[in-house]
Amino acid sequence: MGKSPKYYIDMENMYTAHGYHPIPVVISRAKGVWVWDVNGKKYLDCLSAYSAVNQGHRHPRIMKAMKDQAAKLTLTSRAFHNDQLGAFMKKLCRLAKMEMALPMNTGAEAVETAIKIARKWGYEKKGVPKNKARIIACRENFHGRTTTIVGFSTDPDANTGFGPFGPGFTVIPYDDVAALSKTITKNTVAFLVEPIQGEAGVNVPSDGYLKAVRKICTEHNVLLIFDEIQTGLCRTGKMFAWQHEGAKPDMITLGKALGGGAYPISAVVGSEEIMSVITPGTHGSTFGGNPLACTVGTAALDVLIDDKLDKRAEKLGRYFRKRLGEIANEKVLEIRGKGLLNAIELKKKAGTAREYTEKLMKLGVLAKDTHGQTIRFAPPLVITKKQIDWIMARVEKVLAT
Ligand SMILES: *Cc1c(COP(=O)(O)O)cnc(C)c1O
Repeated sequence: MGKSPKYYIDMENMYTAHGYHPIPVVISRAKGVWVWDVNGKKYLDCLSAYSAVNQGHRHPRIMKAMKDQAAKLTLTSRAFHNDQLGAFMKKLCRLAKMEMALPMNTGAEAVETAIKIARKWGYEKKGVPKNKARIIACRENFHGRTTTIVGFSTDPDANTGFGPFGPGFTVIPYDDVAALSKTITKNTVAFLVEPIQGEAGVNVPSDGYLKAVRKICTEHNVLLIFDEIQTGLCRTGKMFAWQHEGAKPDMITLGKALGGGAYPISAVVGSEEIMSVITPGTHGSTFGGNPLACTVGTAALDVLIDDKLDKRAEKLGRYFRKRLGEIANEKVLEIRGKGLLNAIELKKKAGTAREYTEKLMKLGVLAKDTHGQTIRFAPPLVITKKQIDWIMARVEKVLAT
């Protein structure tokens, strides 16, 4: 007989540092949009590992690429070349309409890399005096968990107790074009921003915001860096969220779904002029660009492209919000999102989002509460209309209780 969920949860809690507050479900198997717990109960995954599983769990094409490569070569370090890296970077650059990429492993590493590149570009190409480079970020940002990154977080949970933090960052309100204009100085090298703030609770900026910040950055010779680790790779209904406004950035950070839900893969992509500030010895990663990652990453991109998951997210995202609108009752303050990155904001008097996500879990829907009143819905992009209806029947029930 299998062990109870409690057995796994107790063991995890005893031996694992408590950096998360998981929904009490213990998953042991998955396929497509579905996951199964240790008792064999089935759930529809409405989080997709924070959008790392856009292609669906264990996509056959990604699994085959991974297995085939595992049978040949997995790691060389970049002290040697491998036969998979070039093709992966070429595919990624073509897709992003950029010239050069730099492979890393996690999202936070990609953001750290972009920060380093922006600063070096500032000193070498813009002429910013030594150690004076400044980067502008936004309130309620989420860019990862390293000490540099949490140093400019405005979430007290993320940074309290982890200082001292390095200087060089200024935080401005999100979705505020005037604040950006006002804050830029001659030493500003970059504006780092999420096209939609995912972790903050799916904050969608006003129409025209991306275009406006693009214009301001160009006028002031400031690099525009879009952190598309969550919004990129079809999640919002376009391959990249910047495409909604044709606001092509100077650098883009990618991660999450770049690994096809199978492997940690991230990258920074940009122009040759910017990326070429990286020279031998100035940056690196033992696992970054390893052949297994490159093969999986290539397959992950192929699935997004060939299965047209951008169009699918766009169409089904509209349907998702329409259905949410139909079942929303007096407890719902707002429904927002783009593509298949959506959220319900509950009124304070309706209780906390956590109460609802735990009830949804009992009915077989795994969604994640965030910031007290928000429930985020981000299912794998391979979801069907019928499966959306399946979710809605359960959300409607939970909203009614
Ligand atoms: C998840 C996320 C990151 C961090 O990625 P990790 O792989 O967890 O380090 C950075 N930026 C955004 C926008 C994210 O959603």
